[in-house]
Amino acid sequence: MPVLLLNASMQPLNVISRRRLVVLLTKERVAFFDDGVRARVERELAQRRLGDGVIVVRLLRNVVIPRRLLRANRRNLLLRDEHTCQYCGLRTIASELTIDHVVPISRGGAAKTWENQVVACKRCNGRKANHLPAEVHLHLARSPRPVAHEYAHLLFMRHPEVRSAYEELVRSVLPEANRARVAGLSLQPLSSGQ
Ligand SMILES: [Zn+2]
Repeated sequence: MPVLLLNASMQPLNVISRRRLVVLLTKERVAFFDDGVRARVERELAQRRLGDGVIVVRLLRNVVIPRRLLRANRRNLLLRDEHTCQYCGLRTIASELTIDHVVPISRGGAAKTWENQVVACKRCNGRKANHLPAEVHLHLARSPRPVAHEYAHLLFMRHPEVRSAYEELVRSVLPEANRARVAGLSLQPLSSGQ
């Protein structure tokens, strides 16, 4: 049973272990959203057998997460671009995908930045070769952005099982006016310059 930890602001922070949950509960640093769920989880923890389903808890005090950028390596680029070719939209397994330098290194493009690297299928990368996208009539689906550690999208890519529980919770707990703000905080990549 995965445990999703939210910041007090409702931003997803991490998927934590059962042991960590017990520590946070003991220190009274987290709250449940529902007393019934709290009672059930406490009973199950006491009996050392947790049931299925995602547990969501929220920190009582907001922690400030520094915007530390992740490295723009292949693994993180695949997560950012959701295993999807940024030119033709093909979504497929990692072994079928390559990393394309938007401005080729041979033409002065940066080798390791988030902004100059995108996921591309083998076919599009072959077509693009040493060109700029426009020269071979390829267009990026979206402008490549840097990704920070707290970016919830990455969390949900790593732990897809907690995503629907989180979305359901946001729908049920937050007034509509705040929903877009929180979803915007957590589900959008950083805009450039942040
Ligand atoms: Zn493609």
